[in-house]
Amino acid sequence: MPENHAMNGHDLEKFISGFERFQQHHYGDDPALLNELQQGQHPRTLLIGCCDSRVDPGYLIGAEPGDIFVSRTVANLVPPCSPDDGGYHGVSAAIQFALQNLKVERIIILGHAQCGGIRALMEPEPEKKNDFDFIRKWMKIAEPAKRSTLAKFGHASNEVQCRVCEQSSILNSLNNLMTFPWVKDAVKEGHLTVHGWYFDLAAGELLAYSERSGSFLPMVCALEPSGPERRPSRITTA
Ligand SMILES: [Zn+2]
Repeated sequence: MPENHAMNGHDLEKFISGFERFQQHHYGDDPALLNELQQGQHPRTLLIGCCDSRVDPGYLIGAEPGDIFVSRTVANLVPPCSPDDGGYHGVSAAIQFALQNLKVERIIILGHAQCGGIRALMEPEPEKKNDFDFIRKWMKIAEPAKRSTLAKFGHASNEVQCRVCEQSSILNSLNNLMTFPWVKDAVKEGHLTVHGWYFDLAAGELLAYSERSGSFLPMVCALEPSGPERRPSRITTA
């Protein structure tokens, strides 16, 4: 307890001084941006990312306040559009707000390597059902990605399977996005584009799904050339 407490205290000090730096910059040295943002937000991008602490979207892509409207979910999943059944549809509400109110021009789904949600999905189902296992229930959204991964890479290592599934799951979420009427209409009318991105944490690389090649290709390559031991970064997922 004392050790944990000290560590937590350290975190809080770090966060408070982080806010002080933010305050000094945006309310002291250079207040123009925050002055403007007080009038309202006009982000042109909805970014759907994972809750993973290593993949903070704004930090990763150097976004300024006001640049991106963000929804973070476990494994950056987008559920299919389904009628209100009395449940709570957090992601669907974020998509609705981004499209109807903010009229964003693009949606980026940002997946990543070593995703804990996908790892859980790829594990065998436990024999005993647990009503409080929200992760497993949530990850059911990505079940089609798991099925296609096992069909094509059934004999591959768990590491390769997880990587393939992480990427397939982005495509599954892109498909689910198109089940929302405002998304489908906006894409059809040419007001909206949708993108699947994948951050390779180990390689330090940013990949994007290319419909033409049916695979994720580097948009920003790794600094070091891939060694032979490096996992394949170009796996055809579609
Ligand atoms: Zn994740």
